[in-house]
Amino acid sequence: MTAVHAPGTPVIEDGRLISTSPATGAEAGRLPVATAEDVRRAVDQARAAGEWWAALGFDGRRERLLRWRGLLARRIEEIAELVHAEGGKPVADAIVEVVTAVEHVDWAARNARRVLGPRRVRSRLVLAEFSAHLEYQPYGVVGVIGPWNYPVFTPIGSAAYALAAGNTVVLKPSEYTPAVGQWLVDTFAEVVPERPVFTAVHGLGDVGAALCRSGVDKVAFTGSSATARKVMAACAESLTPVLLEAGGKDAMIVDADADLDAAAEACVWGALTNAGQTCIGIERVYAVEPVFDAFVGKVVERAGRLTVGPDDADIGPITMPSQIDVIRRHIDDALSRGGRAVLGGADAVQPPYVRPTVLVDVPEDSAAVREETFGPTLTINRVRDADEAVARANALSYGLGGSVFGRRHAVAIARRLRSGMASVNSALTFAGMSTLPFGGVGDSGFGRIHGEDGLREFSRAKAITRRRARSLLPSTTFERTPADVARLVKAIKVMYGR
Ligand code: NAD
Repeated sequence: MTAVHAPGTPVIEDGRLISTSPATGAEAGRLPVATAEDVRRAVDQARAAGEWWAALGFDGRRERLLRWRGLLARRIEEIAELVHAEGGKPVADAIVEVVTAVEHVDWAARNARRVLGPRRVRSRLVLAEFSAHLEYQPYGVVGVIGPWNYPVFTPIGSAAYALAAGNTVVLKPSEYTPAVGQWLVDTFAEVVPERPVFTAVHGLGDVGAALCRSGVDKVAFTGSSATARKVMAACAESLTPVLLEAGGKDAMIVDADADLDAAAEACVWGALTNAGQTCIGIERVYAVEPVFDAFVGKVVERAGRLTVGPDDADIGPITMPSQIDVIRRHIDDALSRGGRAVLGGADAVQPPYVRPTVLVDVPEDSAAVREETFGPTLTINRVRDADEAVARANALSYGLGGSVFGRRHAVAIARRLRSGMASVNSALTFAGMSTLPFGGVGDSGFGRIHGEDGLREFSRAKAITRRRARSLLPSTTFERTPADVARLVKAIKVMYGR
C-alpha cells in the first residue's frame, strides 16, 4: 500500500528512505534506512579506517582532499542538478552553494598542516628549563548531522575540516536530502577508494540520535535549535563533545549614510535566496528613519521583479512542506497585529510556493520578528538611529550572523551585533570566506566551523613539555629544600609583585 504524502515529504517504505521533489513529487533518492546497529557498525568501520587516514599525515590527506575538490568542481552541474531535483532549490542557487563548499575543501586541505601541525611554543621564565610543544590531534570519528537547506555546503563545512584534521566522518544527511548526502560520500570514495573514510547513514531523526550514542568522538550538528538541544542531551550521556550550528533570525541594519541601492540589492538576495530557507538569511531589517521609506521602496521594487516557480525561477518551492504553515502563521500574525504587507501578504502563500513578502511596521513581539520564519519573507521596521537598531537586533536569543549597511559607523555597528558573524555593505559573505570562522552565540549554538578555528574545532590540543636543562628553582619535586621555596617566593615577587 502506498500512502499519499505532500510532495517533498520523505517517506520510508520497505526499509528505504525515499526523497521527492517538493515541486513535482518526483522521486529523487531511495536509500536504505540504518538501524542503530548499522550506525554503530559504520562508526566502527570509520574508526578502523581512521588509523590509515591519520597515518597518511597532512600531506597525504591534502593530496586526497584536493582530488575530491577537483571532482566537485568538475561535476558542479551534476551535483547542482541533484540539489535542485531533491530539495527544489534553483540550480543557480545550488551552483553558488557548491562553489562555496569547494572553496572550503580547498582551504581546509591546504591549511591543516600550518594550523594543526606540531610546533614549538615559547617557554616562560618560571619553567624556562623546559621547552614547550603543541600539536592538534584528530578526535577519531566525527559524526556529522546535517540539515536540508544547504545539503552540500553544511556537511562539507564540518566534514572537510574534520577530514583535513585527520578524522574520519560518518554523515547523517537530512531525511529531505539523503541523495545529495550519498552523492558526497560516493564521490569521496571515488577519489579515496582504499578505506571507508567518509560514509553516510540514512534515516529520520532517530538515526541522528543513534549516531550521537554510537561511540563517535565528536558530533558536529547543523539544524534547528530545538534539535540541537536533543543532540546535546544525547551526547551528554557519554560526554561526547558537540559543535552546534543552529537556527537564526539575522538582522540587517541600514544606517543613514548607507548606499540604499546596494543595501536593497543585498537585502533582497540575503532574505530571499533559497526561498529564504537560509540559517544566516536576512529575516529582519532595521532602517533608520531618514532612509526608511526610500529603502523600503527599493526593496519592494527589486523583490517584486523576482520570478517564483519551478526550474529556473528566482525563487523555488518551500523544501519542507510543513514549514508553509509556519510561514503563513508569521505573515497572518504580523498583519493581524498592525503590520502592513507592502509586497505579498497572506495571499502569497500558494503551496508549495510562497511569493516574496515584505512586511513593515511589524510589532517587535510578533512571531515574524522573533521566530525563525525560513521563508521568502522579510520584516522592515523603522528605528530612530543605529543605537536603537542594535538594541532591537540584539533583543533575541538567536545570534548567528548579521549585516550592516553604512559608511562611517558600519564596522563599529557590526562589532556591537550579538552574533558570531557580520557582513558590512554585503549580506552572507562571511559564509564563503574560508579564512573566517563560522558559528553563532546563544540559541544559534556554539563552536566554530571554517577557518583556523574550524580546523581546531575538530582536533584536540596536545601539549608536551620537555626538559632541556636542570631546574634552578626546583619546585615540582619533594627534593626541594626550604631555601628553594624561599628563592621561589623571592623570584615571583620580583617578577610579578609590582
Ligand atoms: P532539524 O533540526 O529538523 O534536522 C537537522 C538534522 O537533525 C536532520 O538530519 C535530522 O534528521 C536530525 N535529527 C532530528 N532529530 C534528531 C535527534 N533527536 N537527534 C539527532 N539528530 C536528529 O533541522 P532542519 O529542518 O533539517 O534544518 C533547518 C534548520 O537548520 C534551521 O533552523 C536552520 O537555521 C538551521 N541551519 C543552521 C545552520 C548553521 O550553520 N547555523 C546552517 C543551516 C541550517
